[in-house]
Amino acid sequence: MSRLTRLLTLGAAALAFALPAHAATSYVHAGRLVDTEKGTVLSDQLIKVVDGRVAAVTPWSGAPADGPVTDWSAYMVIPGLIDMHTHLADWGQTNNVAEPLLHSPQEIAYIGARHARETLLAGFTSVHDVGCFRAFSDVALRDAINRGDVIGPRMATVGAYITVPGGGGEVTGFAPDVKVPDDMRVGVVTDANDTRLKVNYLFQHGVDSIKLIATGAVLAEGTEPGQQELSNDEMHAAVVAAAEHGGWVTAHAHGAEGIKNAMRAGVRSIEHASLIDDEGLALAKKMGVFLDMDVYNGDYIEEVGTKEGWPAGYLRKNRETTDAQRQAFAKAVKLGVKLTFGTDAGVYPHGLNARQFKYMVRYGMTPMQAIQAATVTSAELLGWSKDVGALSPGHYADMIAVAGDATKDVTLLEHVNGVIKGGAVVK
Ligand SMILES: [Zn+2]
Repeated sequence: MSRLTRLLTLGAAALAFALPAHAATSYVHAGRLVDTEKGTVLSDQLIKVVDGRVAAVTPWSGAPADGPVTDWSAYMVIPGLIDMHTHLADWGQTNNVAEPLLHSPQEIAYIGARHARETLLAGFTSVHDVGCFRAFSDVALRDAINRGDVIGPRMATVGAYITVPGGGGEVTGFAPDVKVPDDMRVGVVTDANDTRLKVNYLFQHGVDSIKLIATGAVLAEGTEPGQQELSNDEMHAAVVAAAEHGGWVTAHAHGAEGIKNAMRAGVRSIEHASLIDDEGLALAKKMGVFLDMDVYNGDYIEEVGTKEGWPAGYLRKNRETTDAQRQAFAKAVKLGVKLTFGTDAGVYPHGLNARQFKYMVRYGMTPMQAIQAATVTSAELLGWSKDVGALSPGHYADMIAVAGDATKDVTLLEHVNGVIKGGAVVK
């Protein structure tokens, strides 16, 4: 019996096991391929994938013999999308200010797995997960995904919110004698030295980056978005401590002064940036600070929050920030400020992340610019440019398929036809 005949008599699983070198090579036939680094579209390409990463991209000239070919010739292929502002490891926003207290860490782990799956199947193969109420739920979810226990996007995590007592990152709104669980207060800081210690603690427990709550929040009782909460000294201490761990800092900031002070303290990006003024926009441009502006979710909060009876203060603060943020976004586009794609998914259901593309185009981006915001620019902010955000050789083979031309109609991204992560077809 020849070697070939022997192999053919084995089952498919055994064959895969017998030929690991061959099993690691595969291909994707892309009808059209978006080059996010150049901002161009190529026709009829063959993407070669070896060990989960792109090995080569060449014009299609027939099916190769040394690996299976995924036929996406009818689709536009785009690098896996990146959402820079998700909250996967939390229950999700409701009308109940006590909602975080209703769920055990174990429940949060399971719901987090569901949110991760919904996010990945919507075409988002990487996320910056910027906070959870039960500290380190995000880190555990990231590690479970990386081990292959559950499916989900590649995650960068922050572990807990760095916030002042009673600030925008706290679970608030209860009678004064109600004791919130300790694991919901891991990031509460009282001065610069405390901030340094808490940032060290977060990195010692595996976070990738730090999320500061620099100003008040829309969806928290007793805080105002326009008001700065963390002091300049506290923010600077966080930036220095994070750098010592090779990490970086993003700041949730709505108010104009808080935004500028966070930038001057050395943060790499601003979340929301709703009330940013012209001086702040100029500073972002000059300092190369990224703005991660969630320009869709104000509409969701207005519609669903009103219907479900979310606290009146939330709805008022949402109205005070939504339109201002969109006008500022339009100015930032014109100025050429670095803009990433961040949605605040968790405030609205996971998996609907791509709804934001339409708004980014409505407020000044071309569809290609919006796609680049969600790929190369977000990868740059993560410090992951060599790994994600593009499909040139060396990057992870993370990609999505859409029917039609998403560089003309970004709403097509709301319904992706296929998802590949690390060379594995997940949808
Ligand atoms: Zn958020």
